[in-house]
This record gives sequence, structure tokens and C-alpha cells, in this order.
Amino acid sequence: MNREVRVRFAPSPTGPLHIGGVRTALYNYLFARQHGGTMILRIEDTDSQRFVPGAEDYINEALHWLGIEIDEGVREGGPYGPYKQSERRDIYREHVKMLLDAGKAYIAFDTPAELEAARAATPNFQYDASTRGTMRNSLSMPADEVQKRIDNGEQYVVRFKVDAGRAVEVNDLIRGKVVIKSDILDDKVLYKSADDLPTYHLANIVDDHLMKVSHVIRGEEWLPSAPLHVLLYEAFGWADTMPDFVHLPLLLKPDGKGKLSKRDGDRLGFPVFPLLWTDPATGAVSRGYREDGYLPQAVVNFLALLGWNPGDDTEIMGMKELIDRFSLSHCSKAGAKFAYEKGSWFNHQYLQTLPDNELSELFKPVMREHGVNPDDFDNEYIIRAVGMVKSRINFVRDLWDQARFFFVAPTEYEAKSVKKRWSAETPAIMDELTGRLAALPDFSAAAAETPILDWIKEKGYHMGNVMNAFRLTVVGECKGPHMFEITELLGRDETIRRIRRGIDCIQTPAES
Ligand code: GLU
Repeated sequence: MNREVRVRFAPSPTGPLHIGGVRTALYNYLFARQHGGTMILRIEDTDSQRFVPGAEDYINEALHWLGIEIDEGVREGGPYGPYKQSERRDIYREHVKMLLDAGKAYIAFDTPAELEAARAATPNFQYDASTRGTMRNSLSMPADEVQKRIDNGEQYVVRFKVDAGRAVEVNDLIRGKVVIKSDILDDKVLYKSADDLPTYHLANIVDDHLMKVSHVIRGEEWLPSAPLHVLLYEAFGWADTMPDFVHLPLLLKPDGKGKLSKRDGDRLGFPVFPLLWTDPATGAVSRGYREDGYLPQAVVNFLALLGWNPGDDTEIMGMKELIDRFSLSHCSKAGAKFAYEKGSWFNHQYLQTLPDNELSELFKPVMREHGVNPDDFDNEYIIRAVGMVKSRINFVRDLWDQARFFFVAPTEYEAKSVKKRWSAETPAIMDELTGRLAALPDFSAAAAETPILDWIKEKGYHMGNVMNAFRLTVVGECKGPHMFEITELLGRDETIRRIRRGIDCIQTPAES
């Protein structure tokens, strides 16, 4: 069938959006954009018990941060709104009535205690064709009694009447045809009079139909609901416009079996949420990819490859390329291990593609966190410092470790290197070095390197020891970019000041 592609991401605002949900949103988006279709964001907030304040804003902010654009939704509006289920009660009420009138659903009065008793009495009790006659519902009671109870304000639910003995076919574009027996389905509750709200199943189907959804792309955990959804489409007489189903593979623990959980993130030290989240009830904070220093492009690229591959070994793909190359035929059925280290690898790659001036802007808040005011330095100085060390970082915050010495002169010197590189004659050589540096006509890296190295050779000094001692005084440890690049940026005065300080402060280790 050639129909307009309309997909929806339909989260429930029950807490922060899990990273698996983000992947679902992303795949919907890639599919929509590739087909020139429409991306809908529908808020499924019919479970009033599980509603969490702030969760809807969080969803919007997370999608926005990642560059997943919404065409129709609560904020964006659109021709099939409202896009929030709690604002669609009339629509659901009307559709519940349609099913009741058609004899496809019925009213049930069983109390929780009665249901509990039935479960206790019959092993594997299921409310279905085989048991509904023994329960208190509009199929087992005379019509006037049903009406009397409703008129008396007795609470009830509406249940879907699942026909026994049917083979229900779910056509899944990744999994192929899945056939299940209707006998394993129970008569699901579709509506509760107590809060005048439908359950997930009814609201989801009615909205997918009314919003003209062409493809339902969602996580594998919803696969068990799909047969019921197929039967509901039929019961409403909408079988002709049933969407195609796509159930995405689960995200699995990085190490071992089972579904990825927040606990795995806590245990292994990675976020499972796109943004930092503070639980409004407990104040508990969960880390987020954004606040942990990931670039949104890296997160998108990383997630895109968890359950899909482009058919070759290309790894780095921006949103545009992902949109071009995405295909359901290259989505896997098998769960995808959440290899979180790969996420930092992607972040490293994307950080390298950022122009140094953008990277330095991201670094400024990190400087402030460490008590250094970026305004005390030339912008160009910060940009060059960042550019010199960026190949060594996976996260923006790593810049501090790599570049701090450009902003704060060392006050401590790494003991291991002192032991190895600093001996009784070093202070005199360093003193000589300051003289050489002071006398250089040109302090640039290109001009300074040869004369200094030549001096070391001429004097017969140990190249490694002298250069490392030099580095120790300037950097505080024996690491960092090219020595003469460092000194060029620090400038002559600062370089010499640091060497002198090293001479004063570094204690010659006792001979061992
Ligand atoms: N509200 C459901 C969720 O939270 C939607 C599932 C679906 O896409 O059908 O994921």
C-alpha cells in the first residue's frame, strides 16, 4: 500500500525518557524524514497514577537537544490534535461506546477483591471467553441490573471481548509475520469509569487511527500488545488502514544477559538518560548524556547503530547521512548490547570535528568550575590551548586535565618523574636553559627548537633528562603536547618564570 508516511513517538510522561525511548524516537524520525513523512509526538498520559511532573518538558527538551524535530505535537499543534491523551477524553468515551454498541466490548463490575478471589481459586486464571460467564459483567447479568448499577454510581470497567480460537496475525516489518492464538489473550480493560479514562490499549489504537499513523515503530517490549491491537483495529472496522508494525530490538546490558537498566548505568558508570534528571518526589539525581559532556551528534550516531547498520562498516554518520541510509531491512531482530564505551569513542570523534573556537566555548564553563576565569585570558590563547590538546580527550571536561597548565602554573611536580629526571646537576642546567631561552631572537616553536636541542647536544647533556626536566617545570608532569608549542603559547616570560620556580621548589631526590 502506498500511503503517506506518518509515524508517532508516543511516550508516557512517567519519568525521564530512557535512552531506549530516545532510540525509538530517533528511528521514527529517520524513517519519517527519509520518506518525506510526518513525525508526531503524542503524550500518552492516561495513567494518572504514574504521571510525573516535569516529564513532558524533559521529553521535549531531550528531543530538541538531539535534533529530533517534531512536526505535529502538543507544542507544535497540527490537524489531528489535541496530541495529549488526557485532553481527548470525549473521543475515547465515544469510541468505548462504539465498541459496546457493536457487542465487541462489555461492562464489568468485578471488584479487585473478587478478581483476587478468582485468581486464588483457579490456577492461571484469565478473564476471557472461558471465564467471563462466571464473573459479574454485562454478559452474565440482565441488562436492567447493569443499568441499575451504573445509575447507582457503581464503578465499572469496560473490557474487550476477545473471541476464542482465532489465529491473530501481526505483520512486523522486522520480524515478519507473527501468528498468535487469541486464546492466550485476556479480555483487556479498555476503560475505567473511576477516572473516566481509557487504558493505554484503547487510547493508543484510537489515536493511531485518527492521527492516520502509517507505521508503528516502537520497542520490542510492546510486541505482546500487538495482537490485541490488531484485534481492536478489526473490532472498530479499521482493518484496512491498520498501520505496519515495527518492533525494535531491546537494548541489552553491556555485560551479560537481560535488558539494559538504570542500575547497569550506576554500576558501570554511564548515563541511561539523555539529560540530567532530578526526581521531583525524592530529589534523587540521575546523570544525563548532555551534562556528562556528550555532544548530541555523538549520541545520535551511537544510538542509530544500536539495532541498525548501514550495510557496510561506516561508523561516523551525521543526521543527514543517517536519514539517507536508514532502512528497516537493516534493523536487527536480536537485542543490541549497549556498548557504552563506544559512546565515548563517538564523542571523541565528534569533538575532533568541532572547530577550536567552538570547543573553547564549551571549555569555558569547565574552566570556571575549576576556579579559573576565562576572561582573564585572551580568547585566542584559550582557542590555541584547546586545539593543542583536543586529540587526547573523549569529553569536554577532559580538557581541564590536559590543558590546565596553560592557565595555572604548576605548584606540585609529579613525584615519579622528579625521581626519574631530576638530579643534583639539573638545577644548574635549567638555569643555563633560562639563559638560552632569554637569548633566543625568536621564541616561536619553529625557531626555538633547533637552537635549544643543539645546545643540549653540544654540551653532551642527556637529551631525555633535560627535555623532561624542562617539561616538568613548565607542565608539572611529563605529559602534554610538543614542548616548544607549549612554550610558544605560554610566552617567554612565563616559561622562564616556571623554570625558575621549578629550580626553587623541586627537591633533588635522595640517591637510592
Ligand atoms: N505510551 C507507550 C510508551 O510509553 C507507547 C507504546 C507505543 O508506542 O505503542 O512507550
